[in-house]
Amino acid sequence: MARSSLFKTIHIECPVCNIFHQVEERVRMSSTIIKGEKIFYEEHYFVCTNNNFDSTMEVDENPEKEKQTKDRKKQEFKTESLDNTNLLSAGNAYRKMHNLLTSGEIVDTRESYGLTQVEFARLLGWGEATVARYESRAIQDEAYDTILRMIKENPLMALRFLDRNGDRFPETKRMQIRVRMIEKLDSCGREFLSRQVLESAYAKFPVPSDFNGYRLLDIDKLESVVSYFAERITELYKVRLMNMLWYADALSFKMQGNSMTGMVYRHERMGIFPIGHDSLIALRNINVHTEEDFETTKYQFYPNSAVDMSELSKNETDILEAILTKFRNFSDMNLVEYIQEETAYKQTSQHEMIPYSLTRKMRG
Ligand SMILES: [Zn+2]
Repeated sequence: MARSSLFKTIHIECPVCNIFHQVEERVRMSSTIIKGEKIFYEEHYFVCTNNNFDSTMEVDENPEKEKQTKDRKKQEFKTESLDNTNLLSAGNAYRKMHNLLTSGEIVDTRESYGLTQVEFARLLGWGEATVARYESRAIQDEAYDTILRMIKENPLMALRFLDRNGDRFPETKRMQIRVRMIEKLDSCGREFLSRQVLESAYAKFPVPSDFNGYRLLDIDKLESVVSYFAERITELYKVRLMNMLWYADALSFKMQGNSMTGMVYRHERMGIFPIGHDSLIALRNINVHTEEDFETTKYQFYPNSAVDMSELSKNETDILEAILTKFRNFSDMNLVEYIQEETAYKQTSQHEMIPYSLTRKMRG
């Protein structure tokens, strides 16, 4: 029997004993088949915990055996709405496994443009019920998913669809939608564009390899790591940050066989820097202030409260903490000198890429 945990208790008329009382809503991992594939998902169900209820009441034959099976079955029950939630959660588990947007992400995307389900379907030139179906249990095809994803990330793409399908809306509505899209372009469109610059620097590393630590570039994760460090180091400047990013990825690789952010690093004069470090700084979600000196620009990093820290797992924060502890009392120059003594640095030359396999010899 799968382990379950208590989700909450609610007061309802219990269909098991027909009495109003507190019943438990519990969660366990279950599996189901979707499109011929076995999918694991979190299943919710209710349990009648009314001890006064005697489940043997209706049993007349074979009392012992009957009692045991009935006890267990009778105490557990589901409602129609809980069944729907479970189907949705199984569908979303399938979507995650296949890298498709979840129903919730589709809702969020649509709402970010202030559109109803029918309006969103019209904008995309789809059948009017299509969006409603995808926001519930129907799983979108990859081609539809690609379009939804482009609209989600890039308001420019949404504007293009409005140019094409705008005649499906009344004039005033069309104007309203356009205004909303342009607002969204101002807020998150630039984030999308800044990400594209960094992503294009990584287009040469499309598959997991020894150079990216067997993980593809994950910008959400990268932004969380930067914000995590910035929150805990009072004066975090570029050289320190870049070298600490390498230690985070290298230690992650050493301990669990994968880098954390999927970044590719190179041997540089001031230590080990990721490829695209200038476009990294330009990411909208990286909170950086620049100080112009006579001849150089200093970049100081601050935490960004808009960054989702739940991107980081417990294992990952443990790794980041270990690095913070180790380098707490190092000055920026100490850190550079220290990293220059790493095998990964000494066995490579200027601008050469550093394979993660060299981090196995990293000093403890
Ligand atoms: Zn009950």
